[in-house]
Amino acid sequence: MRAVTFRSVRDVVTTSVADPRLETPFDAIVQVELAAICGSDLHPYLGREVGLDVGTVLGHEFLGTVVAVGSGVAKFRVGDRVVSPFSTSCGSCWFCARGLTARCTAGQLFGWVQQGRGLHGGQAERVRVPLADSTLVAAPTGVPAEAALLAGDVLSTGFFGAQLGGVQPGDVVVVVGAGPVGICALLAAQHAGAQAVFALDLLPERLALARRHGAIAGAAEDPELRASLREATHGRGADVVLECVGSAGATRVAFELVRLGGTIAAAGVHCEPQFAFSPGEAYDKNLTYRAGRCSARALMDTTLPLLAQERFQLGALFSHRLALDEARRGYELFERRLDGCTKVLLVP
Ligand SMILES: [Zn+2]
Ligand SMILES: [Zn+2]
Repeated sequence: MRAVTFRSVRDVVTTSVADPRLETPFDAIVQVELAAICGSDLHPYLGREVGLDVGTVLGHEFLGTVVAVGSGVAKFRVGDRVVSPFSTSCGSCWFCARGLTARCTAGQLFGWVQQGRGLHGGQAERVRVPLADSTLVAAPTGVPAEAALLAGDVLSTGFFGAQLGGVQPGDVVVVVGAGPVGICALLAAQHAGAQAVFALDLLPERLALARRHGAIAGAAEDPELRASLREATHGRGADVVLECVGSAGATRVAFELVRLGGTIAAAGVHCEPQFAFSPGEAYDKNLTYRAGRCSARALMDTTLPLLAQERFQLGALFSHRLALDEARRGYELFERRLDGCTKVLLVP
């Protein structure tokens, strides 16, 4: 089959690889209909995360049809249309029982193989899904496939951010980074009853997308935007900042804009070794800082049903739709934000 594989930093290639096969009775094989390139795929792509084996099939956002199941799979049959979260989970360990499916003791991330161990990803014609019963979710009918695919990561991660931030009705919320996760975080903050949401980014196409979704949008340094944030909060600063970038710079902006006693929730993947603020600064701000990987499987029970609503029609987050064989160009467009690229859909 054809699959997008990792060769080295900034070097991914669509190539022919062995077909995945059932390896345990609890596996399913999914024929991929749509896959997406995610901001976190850029971490290994750019060498910010290291250790990925050459030849790893990339990608953890996909939707497709079950084409084979092991004898232990009870919930899914050949022909079922499914969407997957970005990692597998068993549904029954201590962490899964508490909704922390992201930290399942048997969980694996799609698209991460290191020293021969791990799981190949979904930017491929077919993908093996271990623990299929507790990992996969039936794709909702009547919802566009590209929106359903987003529930497996981006939409759920946005909701996770708002949940970590404890957004309350009436809150003034700042979203740092208006990429796909940022837009979903802004929708989640509105859904939680935020009175106003500010979205910060530098790219005009992202700011336009944020405005379309009801945010007050601008650059972090924009004096007018800062003035309207001060006005909206009587000079206090944001009740909650949803940091959806995953960098020291974004964390610093979040720290500057959050009010005394406010919360910063980090929904972006972080790779840096230190905080962008000191313990003393955190103390002086009575700051709450929360972070971590989204438990997408658990959150999909909340986010998938929302996709039937008008404001959650998220197809506009995708700027590019490419064939699997064009994935290399897709990574380049996405990484360098060329041609107004906000998110790339790959169609095997
Ligand atoms: Zn992702
Ligand atoms: Zn588990």
